[in-house]
Amino acid sequence: MKAFVGADLINGSTDVIQKNHILIVDGANIHSIIPNTDENQDLLESMEEIYNVQGCTILPGLIDCHEHVASKNYELITRWNLDEPASTTSIRTFKVLEDTLQSGYTSIRDAGGLDYGYKLAIEEGIWQGPRLILAISIMSQTGGIGDRISGSGHINSIINNPLLPNAVVDGEEQIQHKLRELVRCGADVIKIATTGGASSRQGLGPRDTSFSRSEVRFIIDESTRLNKKVMCHALGGPGLRVCIEEGVHSIEHGCYLGEDPDLLKIMAESNMFLVPTFTVYDYHKQYSAPHVQERAQLLIDKHRQSFELAMKNDVKIVAGTDAGGFVHGDNARELELLVENGMSPLNAIKAATGVAAECLTMEDTIGSLTVGHKADLLIMKEDPLKNISILRDRNKIKYVFKDGNNIELSKRII
Ligand SMILES: [Zn+2]
Repeated sequence: MKAFVGADLINGSTDVIQKNHILIVDGANIHSIIPNTDENQDLLESMEEIYNVQGCTILPGLIDCHEHVASKNYELITRWNLDEPASTTSIRTFKVLEDTLQSGYTSIRDAGGLDYGYKLAIEEGIWQGPRLILAISIMSQTGGIGDRISGSGHINSIINNPLLPNAVVDGEEQIQHKLRELVRCGADVIKIATTGGASSRQGLGPRDTSFSRSEVRFIIDESTRLNKKVMCHALGGPGLRVCIEEGVHSIEHGCYLGEDPDLLKIMAESNMFLVPTFTVYDYHKQYSAPHVQERAQLLIDKHRQSFELAMKNDVKIVAGTDAGGFVHGDNARELELLVENGMSPLNAIKAATGVAAECLTMEDTIGSLTVGHKADLLIMKEDPLKNISILRDRNKIKYVFKDGNNIELSKRII
């Protein structure tokens, strides 16, 4: 057993902060949490390892609920995997996984583009990375965000990876087949899109609809039968309304929710999660193609208002970066943006721990410093409740543990 002595503990799923405690880990799990008092010192004699973490803060390992680990940028040549050998690309992706774990992120929900082989390698212990919850491919209609055609109108005729099926579908028959194929390929969650986005092609904007109401209903029914939750990319307009009224599990982005405040009530009442992904728009507004920059700049104020209303309505809010077209390994930037947009530091941490675990339906095992939970720990040298930005600073990380294993923190590798 290992003991971590003297740190303050942020629970993650509750508002509880335990000052100066001893956290004991047995194998992969948290064994006990006790005050660091004189009478409890005897217990330490039976420990195999003792970590003096006086003055440090221990959080549950962080969770990003919207990542694209395998994506490198927004260029079509890269998205079609034409610019370098697949083996080189694969090594880059493995490095991203390793680096992301070292940054304190012990679980990632990948929203499309990462195949099951990465998860297998991590589970078998031949590579280090966060535990992975995979969407495999984004399901959208012809012309939707998952339909990556070239500017000349050509579709990608090269089959890159049979484990990442093209999930462009129209109508119930195609949807049913594709859902089964995605699950066969290892999908833990079904990712769909009912609107365009900031980065989608010209002519498919954030309020433009994708999929009919009956298609969305069919996707939810079929996914439920397959025991999978549906995460839905939706920014605004009728497509946002349809997926909320039909009852998806989480809304990704939700930038224009404030224009339809009745939807926030439905979300709160039905425990539907909101993953605002501020980080990606912060990137788009500065660096992306001109039409993408313009869309991002147009939505920034609306996005903040929607977020404020969501908090006011007690919608469950979860941290996700949508990283993939831009820098990896800086997932805690989203927590900083949640705070900049009006969330308390404690709630921002819960959005990346306890509430995020609920979004993954894994709240019984991760996301909280609770006896019996996985010993996924992020141990910071300072208190992130005083300054959330320290979570982005690798020099402020003392230790990262996943499943009770001490993760070696090497120099940045990506
Ligand atoms: Zn995404």
